Amino acid sequence: MKKIEKIRHSLAHILAYAVQELYPQTKFGIGPAIENGFYYDFDLPKKIEQEDLPKIERKMKDLIKEGIKFKKKIVSKKEAEEIFKDQPYKLELIREIESENVSIYESGKFVDLCAGPHVRSTKEIDPDAFKLIKIAGAYWKGNEKNPMLTRIYGIAFGTKEELEEYLKIQEEAEKRDHRILGQKLELFLFDEEVGAGLPIWMPKGAILRKIIQDFLFEELKKEGYEWVVTPHIGNLNLWKTSGHWELYRENMYSPIKIDEEEYMLKPMNCPFHVKVYKSKIRSYKDLPIKYAEFGTVYRYERSGTLHGLTRVRGFTQDDAHIWCTPEQLAKEVEKLVKHALKILRMFGFKEYNIYLATRPEKFAGTEKMWKKAMAVLKYVLRKRKLKYQIDPGGGVFYGPKIDIKIKDCLGREWQCTTIQVDFNLPERFDLTYVDKKGKKRRPIMIHRALLGSIERFIGVLLENTGGALPLWLSPDQIWIIPVGSRHKKYANFVNQQLTTHNLRTRIKDENETVSKKIREGEIQKIPYMLVVGDKEMKSKSVRVRERGKGDIGEVKLTRFIERVKMEIERKK
Ligand SMILES: [Zn+2]
Ligand SMILES: [Zn+2]
Repeated sequence: MKKIEKIRHSLAHILAYAVQELYPQTKFGIGPAIENGFYYDFDLPKKIEQEDLPKIERKMKDLIKEGIKFKKKIVSKKEAEEIFKDQPYKLELIREIESENVSIYESGKFVDLCAGPHVRSTKEIDPDAFKLIKIAGAYWKGNEKNPMLTRIYGIAFGTKEELEEYLKIQEEAEKRDHRILGQKLELFLFDEEVGAGLPIWMPKGAILRKIIQDFLFEELKKEGYEWVVTPHIGNLNLWKTSGHWELYRENMYSPIKIDEEEYMLKPMNCPFHVKVYKSKIRSYKDLPIKYAEFGTVYRYERSGTLHGLTRVRGFTQDDAHIWCTPEQLAKEVEKLVKHALKILRMFGFKEYNIYLATRPEKFAGTEKMWKKAMAVLKYVLRKRKLKYQIDPGGGVFYGPKIDIKIKDCLGREWQCTTIQVDFNLPERFDLTYVDKKGKKRRPIMIHRALLGSIERFIGVLLENTGGALPLWLSPDQIWIIPVGSRHKKYANFVNQQLTTHNLRTRIKDENETVSKKIREGEIQKIPYMLVVGDKEMKSKSVRVRERGKGDIGEVKLTRFIERVKMEIERKK
């Protein structure tokens, strides 16, 4: 265990100790280390509020400064039950432990049931490098039939500087939260009555999706892909053949009964694409075959893990499958890696981390197949001189994969591209092609998504740009604002000129002041606003307000059109 994790977990104990001192009747739940910090669950004798946190924090700092030692003791379960006789949650945990003895930790006057490890003494903890950040309700053991406990979250780092850096990034991240931006920019919404994790795309969001999809459609055509469209549900038998029912079931929803048969909402598009491959006899001359689809899939996510667009229950993948000969595999994977990086760059993502994910616990196929696939992926990454990290056990059940996680402007990592080699589905569905000698052979299948999920990708785009999408992606590119009612006709003329060049415009001729419309446009992060009045009308020009720059002066309409078209071309 890393030192910082020990510190975080030890702080959870110190938090509990402080709470015990301040609220003596408290019953204690559990307190683990988590990413960037720790929490502890309490059954408190009185309700506490956010305002109480500084007091608890001060108490913790005092305790830390005392240099409290963490002492481990092994006791029998009987002894433990005696020690924790007033602690019902701890008693429940003790009774669940299978071994005869349990380990407990003493730190000062606080005793906890815990396997450790911890720091030896609080002297190893910097009292200025942690902070309690929030209170939330949490059911005991995450089960809503159990009592609701109070969870206090803290964050902790090795030094005060790291803590401050983290808080700064958090503050910036809050401003860029795509869930808030999505509402402000009228892109998407969530509705309780519709259900958790099921985004609804509003007109502007739908346009944004279409822009992204049209762009990919053209890009993939150049790479030799063909497009297919497949159903959202499929017979359970299909998922049994594919292995999903056996190995991927926890991510799938319950079967839907239709007549006497059971159907599944699709968690993946693969088996459908396999059927297209299988619809004809394939020759080595046809390979590689590439089928792409914007396939909407449904996967079970626990409600607690849902988060805006980045963690949803229904999402659309820019999915594709490639079938090739074993000899073609390395070349195809290499093309994919190159293409993926190119596409991500076009969306403004120039930094990324690459992961090579190895065999998970539940897997299909033989070890030999896995080894072979791994060797190819490694070979390609080395050949392209790409640095990568191993993600142990992170592969999908049918094969290892290369994941490309993009880094946004705050240094956060987001999963996007995935390239997965699969020897298994061709086997299960008995896919073949005829080789040069007229012999039947098995193709290799590659699963790949470049952006991953369109939903998550848009979420990341929004957070990366703070909602100021580049011109080519902006749903509304240009607003035209007539100064008075006598300028409406000219505004219509400007609009007509812009739309003939396929620019996405909106005339803002509501009965409101120009400055109010400009403010609204700024909130909605509109790239260009054109104000037109007497002067502009006379000289066939527009007064341009550029996002982030404000008024940049009067420009001839024809010049303005050239300028924005060039900007769109450059994808800036
Ligand atoms: Zn502990
Ligand atoms: Zn697939």
